Amino acid sequence: MIVGIDLGTTHSLVGTYGENGPVLFPNALGEYLTPSVVSVDEQGHVIVGQAARDRMVSHPGASVATFKRWMGTPRETVLGSHRFRPEELSALILRSLIADAEAATGETVTEAVISVPAYFSDAQRKATRAAGELAGIRVERLINEPTAAALAYGMQEKQDGARFLVFDLGGGTFDVSVLELFEGVVEVHASAGDNFLGGEDFLDVLETAFCADQKLSLEALTPQEHGQLRRRLEQAKCELGANSTASVEWRQGEHIHGWQIDEERFARLSETLVQRMRTPLERAMRDARLQPTQLDEIVLVGGASRMPLVARLVSRMFGRLPLRHVNPDQAIALGACVAAGLKARDQRLDEVILTDVCPYTLGTKVSRRDEKGNEQTGFFAPIIHRNSTVPVSREEVFQPMRDHQTKLTLEVYQGENPMVERNIKLGQLEIPLPPKRSMAENAVRLRFTYDINGVLQVEAELMATGQRYELVLEQNPGLLDSAEIRERLAALQDIKVHPRDKQENIAILARAERLYEEYVAARSQLQQWIAYFRSILDSQDDHLIREHRRQFGEALDTLEASA
Ligand code: ADP
Ligand code: MG
Repeated sequence: MIVGIDLGTTHSLVGTYGENGPVLFPNALGEYLTPSVVSVDEQGHVIVGQAARDRMVSHPGASVATFKRWMGTPRETVLGSHRFRPEELSALILRSLIADAEAATGETVTEAVISVPAYFSDAQRKATRAAGELAGIRVERLINEPTAAALAYGMQEKQDGARFLVFDLGGGTFDVSVLELFEGVVEVHASAGDNFLGGEDFLDVLETAFCADQKLSLEALTPQEHGQLRRRLEQAKCELGANSTASVEWRQGEHIHGWQIDEERFARLSETLVQRMRTPLERAMRDARLQPTQLDEIVLVGGASRMPLVARLVSRMFGRLPLRHVNPDQAIALGACVAAGLKARDQRLDEVILTDVCPYTLGTKVSRRDEKGNEQTGFFAPIIHRNSTVPVSREEVFQPMRDHQTKLTLEVYQGENPMVERNIKLGQLEIPLPPKRSMAENAVRLRFTYDINGVLQVEAELMATGQRYELVLEQNPGLLDSAEIRERLAALQDIKVHPRDKQENIAILARAERLYEEYVAARSQLQQWIAYFRSILDSQDDHLIREHRRQFGEALDTLEASA
């Protein structure tokens, strides 16, 4: 079976293409959204999902979240006695999703189509594929998240020339993409975004307002109190989508803080964040050279796009209402399932989706002479511009700065800043120049070619002699090669993961331990419950365990609601 997977920063989902279209599979707790969190317990066993998220509170040093941000880097996370690279943490999430898909269907998962942000660099895409390999499945196709969202909205069935804008506001990232259907292929025309803007920032706004009104200082709260408060405010934030007001009741020691906020005030306090969302929206439209009236549809995805202020911003900027009838948490996963369906039916995916634009500007370092004739160096000369549709090949001619120069160093950079020092250096080419030539005689033609797999080929030709030099930038520092992947695959397979049928027990214990951290007054009560439930688990009587788990869950609900 081929599955479609949304491997999100905050949540991940899995599904496939069934007889009646895309279907998602619930995890062992019956939820479609699995938190992208990994934790390691005292026995060295791996825990993934909601239980791991609860353990962020009770065992912060043994738990990790938001590692999607580190994909493509060699950063390692130590959890207990294990060290994990970001692609290994992602592989653990993938394995848990695969187990859910297999439990739901009874079939074996062999392959997946995984969605990635449109701006993901080559290194980040390769790391995502490596995560698939580490999870033991084939990943032949990655699909850009906005393209997946558009497939969930049936864009591939629209008239040629249809243009979609996809607005994706997740937990910590904001992505805007403009897509166009061209001869039956969905192309990404422009993508822009803010990697540090998402639902969490709006939660910060509520937190600041709450603390100001209640005359609390955030620094004075214990980590436990802080976690508890954020949970309450998160509920309020979600309520504000459905109702015009939300209230929060939060007990700090003996004191009960009662608070109310209405949607209007929340929107007013969020004005700075709303303004920040305008920039990527304007940039994507400018890069795609489109006016708002030329868009056929505007699609909202990402959990945080449920905030009414998002629909208002979009309506104001584009003069119409956005589409949001597909559940915004699920749209990308559903689209990945559509892509999985196309692949399973042996339709060549690239007939429907052309996945790539070059996400960054690529260029070289140049020097200039100012009006006084002084040499100034460190300027960035773009050759391939951001958002060019790939494959793309462009050339420019450069000259050395001086006559009789004997060597030319061509440095290759990626980035958007006019000065190279603010961009990322990818590599360099040394070109020996024939002696005693003028600057013009030593002109060099520089060609950059960027292909669909994100490989950049740099060719330099000394025009006078025709001598050629080449640099191929495909090896990304910080990525695993195939031998290392095999080695780590073996190591990962030795790591114990709790069986799926124990997940509910693990999750309820993790929740009780989180509450133990957060609700000091209820500690002895919780300790008794935990000990009792553990003794029930020892009985190994499934029926008894199920019954007590239900009661335990109800008791925790009551505690959390009233404390
Ligand atoms: P990611 O793509 O980062 O994995 P998601 O698309 O799952 O993220 O979005 C997670 C964010 O959506 C969180 O910040 C969460 O608070 C927010 N969110 C979810 N539901 C709502 C809602 N009803 N109202 C406002 N925000 C919501
Ligand atoms: Mg997402």
